Amino acid sequence: MSALAKNYNRRKISFKFGKGSFLYSTNGKKYLDFVQGIAVNSLGHSNPYLINAINKQSKKLWHVSNTFIIPESEKLAQRLAKKTFADFLIFQNSGAEATEAAIKVARRYFYSIGQPKKNRILCVKNSFHGRTLATIYASGSKKMTEGFGPKVEGFDHFEFGDHKALKKSITSKTAAIMVETIMGEGGIKVIPNWCLKELRKICNQKKILLILDEVQCGIGRSGSFFAFENSKIKPDIVPIAKGIGGGFPLGAVLMNKKVASGMTVGTHGSTFGGNPLAMSVGNAVLDQIFKKGFLRNVKKLSKYFHSELNKIKKEFPKIIKEVRGVGLLIGLQLFDDQTKFIQKLMDNKLLTIRAAENVIRILPPLNVKKQEIDLAIKTIKKVCLTFK
Ligand SMILES: *Cc1c(COP(=O)(O)O)cnc(C)c1O
Repeated sequence: MSALAKNYNRRKISFKFGKGSFLYSTNGKKYLDFVQGIAVNSLGHSNPYLINAINKQSKKLWHVSNTFIIPESEKLAQRLAKKTFADFLIFQNSGAEATEAAIKVARRYFYSIGQPKKNRILCVKNSFHGRTLATIYASGSKKMTEGFGPKVEGFDHFEFGDHKALKKSITSKTAAIMVETIMGEGGIKVIPNWCLKELRKICNQKKILLILDEVQCGIGRSGSFFAFENSKIKPDIVPIAKGIGGGFPLGAVLMNKKVASGMTVGTHGSTFGGNPLAMSVGNAVLDQIFKKGFLRNVKKLSKYFHSELNKIKKEFPKIIKEVRGVGLLIGLQLFDDQTKFIQKLMDNKLLTIRAAENVIRILPPLNVKKQEIDLAIKTIKKVCLTFK
């Protein structure tokens, strides 16, 4: 009997070790892991470079309080600021903490300029920003909020793609629009570039802030460092987590100078956030992702993956409805419930994970090899044949 509460419906399998794109189960089987901890292990399992980085740091210093200067966190913050829109960062330990911090930064900014009533956040209905009390009400999903009242106030919602409702929902109390650049849990729904541009324009006109949640789609997953980069816009606040830690818990909220001005001494904090161990891994992940040609390779391989998946879609037009996503954040939308399909993929040694709208999420590590993609394609095709 498990002593773990039953808040997960766990698949009856566990793993002894992992290497790159593969996981080895306790019962001696080898799986191609295209879940990677849900876009967390951005450089695969047991990456030697990351192992070396954390080993080295673990012998020097694990943890010191943020009331001291932590050089490793100064370094990671500098590097992220230099490469992105951000001027300042606050480190956290998870995605939910990072998005919640993003909400705090937005509200605090308006408070600090004498507009404390401007504190509402406008979000996409049934989006995903984490599981804390505030972030579940930011999502507005019934499934996530049911039984967790009283409701956390301060969130308004519009349906994904409903531009009219979005514009109508902005009031004098709106502080920010917060959206996932690519909806992950919601079914790999991409906000197109023209739409991101429009969002920026609306925020400028209304003098409100734009928060882009890049917890799942950021850190190279889309083939660009941030998924919004192709649109050429600059958000005000961006929470990150998942991929930046390469498997170690690490989150952060990135912000521009303007909004950072509200975050004065004592306004926010985290005991673990920015600890040397997490920072050593974060820096090692960036060493790899910032390498010349790394993201170009993600783009190239993902283009190949998408085109091969579209060929399968053409071959099985009654099974596969749509190939979704950008880069290596891929969704295979089926016409019917995807549960059985995912199980059959697993029976054939390919691990994938569900998302909303009958979507099978495919999340290889960013350093996946072409022959591993070919293996996945072969397996997906094989399973399609059994569904014919
Ligand atoms: C996973 C996720 C979160 C929450 O991250 P946790 O580390 O599970 O708290 C927030 N936003 C998005 C878009 C996510 O995909």
